[in-house]
Amino acid sequence: MAKSINCGDVVDNCNWSATAENEEELMKKIREHAKEHGFHEISAELMGKIKGIIKEI
Ligand SMILES: [Zn+2]
Repeated sequence: MAKSINCGDVVDNCNWSATAENEEELMKKIREHAKEHGFHEISAELMGKIKGIIKEI
């Protein structure tokens, strides 16, 4: 099942969003985008937030 994420759900004033065929592919896109916010490593806490806002589409 395809997955999507809206960065604005966790970061104010960011309108980046992405979709991918599965969570693994989506996480690759998220890791790349997270660098733009200064997150070069995704902490367990941040990962929890991200997983909480990933939607199935
Ligand atoms: Zn963002």
